[in-house]
Amino acid sequence: MEIKIKGLTKLYHSEGKIIKALDDVNLTIGDNTIFTLLGPSGCGKTTLLRSIVGLENPDIGEISIGDEIVWSKEKNIFIPPEKRGLGMVFQTYAIWPHMNVFDNVGYPLQNQGMPKDEIKQRVAETLKLVQLEGFEHRPATKLSGGQQQRVALARALVAKPKVILFDEPLSNLDAKLREETRKELRTFLTGLGITAIYVTHDRIEALALSDIIAVMRAGKIVEMGSPKKIYFNSDHPFVADFIGRSNLIEGVITQCSNRHATLKTAIGDIIGLNTHHLTVGENAIMCIRPEFIKLTHTNNTKEKNIFKGVMQNLVFIGEAYEGDIKINDTLLTTTIEPTEDIHEGSEIFISFSMEHCFLVKS
Ligand code: ATP
Repeated sequence: MEIKIKGLTKLYHSEGKIIKALDDVNLTIGDNTIFTLLGPSGCGKTTLLRSIVGLENPDIGEISIGDEIVWSKEKNIFIPPEKRGLGMVFQTYAIWPHMNVFDNVGYPLQNQGMPKDEIKQRVAETLKLVQLEGFEHRPATKLSGGQQQRVALARALVAKPKVILFDEPLSNLDAKLREETRKELRTFLTGLGITAIYVTHDRIEALALSDIIAVMRAGKIVEMGSPKKIYFNSDHPFVADFIGRSNLIEGVITQCSNRHATLKTAIGDIIGLNTHHLTVGENAIMCIRPEFIKLTHTNNTKEKNIFKGVMQNLVFIGEAYEGDIKINDTLLTTTIEPTEDIHEGSEIFISFSMEHCFLVKS
């Protein structure tokens, strides 16, 4: 089911101030897509999600689900949440501790007045889907965090929603379980062929789960695209930095070729991808991910993208070393193979491929 949002603006009034939680948001979420809203705290993710659900009343704009307009200020349309055909999973699971699994999952159907036999069958089917078959009579309090999360998922799915919405559903799980659950969830949602809208401020979760990520800042969508597009070739320095660790080096473009451009920077000339077609004389930022900076045995700094630096702030984290390379007054963050014989203060040469760094407008 496709979701369309047009010109959505939401203002909150608090302590005499106006807060623009959503600022003219326009987007289309495709059918059968796992769509993630990602952004720092307070950027408006939850307000947007709650507006789609119908729990928030925006000030301007229009929201459609499939062919139906569910909210429009101008046309004076408001379809209540329970009639929008949506399922929702919250951060706190919101499952009821005094009920067993069956009653928790079957609650939305009981509310609809569905006959008991049908409820029994639908709950059983849904529990099978989330791999909690046979858990019907287990009290909700006697479930692990991951199982409670799956009960919440089953309850959101039991009424066969057209769209399912998640508000940071994994943030209460411990790190290991969160990793496992996000893999399961992606496989599960892809298999279901349902449109899912997912809110998180965790970039790894967004990259791992999504078909499309929309990065928000201050009530606006800054950029939208596939995880790879956003990670490897974002359009904005803010997005490049938010989606992963990134070295952002400022400079001026001195030369352009078909796909690449040279940026004159404080550490020297850097050549990188110029997919945004910036031109000579423009100020720009080169984005280089730490994992693409490699130690090299070539010590000719006249060669392209080879620099001499000194290792600083080196820490061993098992799978790699993390550290900073000081080149003149610039620090570049990097990750280094754990097998390298390297120490703080080591003089080193680094290189990075011109295919692995990209220019954005500053
Ligand atoms: P988080 O990741 O911290 O949950 P978020 O991106 O979901 O943040 P929102 O909860 O949508 O952000 O809030 C957007 C802005 O609106 C913030 O500045 C927040 O303080 C403000 N806000 C949210 N709800 C209200 C409210 N009921 N009254 C006043 N201001 C609010």
